[in-house]
Amino acid sequence: MAETLDIIAPFFNEAESAIAFVGLLDRLEVAVAERFGMTVRKILVDDGSRDGSAETFAAALSGSWEIVRLSRNFGKEAAVLAGLDHSRGDTVLIMDSDLQHSMDISLKMIGELVENPEIDVVFAQNDRREGSWRRSQLARLFYKLINSSQRFDIPENAGDFRVMRGSVARALTSVRDKRRFNKGLFAWAGFRQKAVLYSPENRAGGTSKWTRFNLIAFSLEGFTSFSVIPLRVISLIGLLAAFAGLAYGVKVLFEVLFYGIRVPGYPSLMVAVVLLGGLNLALLGLIGEYVWVTLSESKDRPVYIVRDVLHGNAVEQVAPDK
Ligand code: UDP
Ligand code: MG
Repeated sequence: MAETLDIIAPFFNEAESAIAFVGLLDRLEVAVAERFGMTVRKILVDDGSRDGSAETFAAALSGSWEIVRLSRNFGKEAAVLAGLDHSRGDTVLIMDSDLQHSMDISLKMIGELVENPEIDVVFAQNDRREGSWRRSQLARLFYKLINSSQRFDIPENAGDFRVMRGSVARALTSVRDKRRFNKGLFAWAGFRQKAVLYSPENRAGGTSKWTRFNLIAFSLEGFTSFSVIPLRVISLIGLLAAFAGLAYGVKVLFEVLFYGIRVPGYPSLMVAVVLLGGLNLALLGLIGEYVWVTLSESKDRPVYIVRDVLHGNAVEQVAPDK
């Protein structure tokens, strides 16, 4: 039987780019069959769209496809997991449905995987030449912090756009973190990974679902899922403050005993109270973030709920006889 390639693409209100994306999928399917002799199955995940994109996709898709419709919007990270749960291909490609992820790079990544049997995952890494300097420095700092003292490295500017062997996809479905930071989970899972540089295309239509605020929230997610560094840094600052306090106390005692200097109390007291009070509150907030993650995990709700699954091409529905 021919090797199979599952293409997983989550979408959330992408009616504007639906037709163009189906066109890309059709071309990709032909190219993949020609170059690698693989048959393609498309697994689209409707992440609670309310603009009729699922219907548009269902009408336009051809060949073997599935649309997993989630019961509401769970976020892209959860939608990708839903796609992985529904895949059983020998090779799995994950891409966005807004045409920012091109056919050429997809083919290049599949080619790399086919040519190099010792590699398990090929991921697309944004070589990001555009974007502000400040933002790229911030991103660099983020990765530096999150990657310190870890046994695995989360590569910079690499997201869900990647190709992997079926065994990797199966392994990833066993990672059921409730609050998901996919970049980190992909790295955590290990396997032999290789980067392919790319620069994302412009969106076909609609707008990105990222705002500055949820980017910050997402970065925090990364920390609480993968790093204890913030907690350690705060403990260190607390310790330093305590030492400073001790040194100051000794100095005051010394001055009173040997020089008879009367200590001016009020300002130093205020500084100490405000500084330590602020530090305390910040630390509490930070611990709260970690507690919140623990709470989400312990409630053990499913990562997503499937409303229904639309199918195309009934021939494919028979179980594969491997
Ligand atoms: N997406 C999703 N659920 C969401 C937000 C986004 O499935 O809650 C999909 C979206 O339709 C697109 C992909 O995830 O196919 C990437 O989203 P977006 O383009 O907003 O992110 P960006 O490309 O700006 O990182
Ligand atoms: Mg996008």
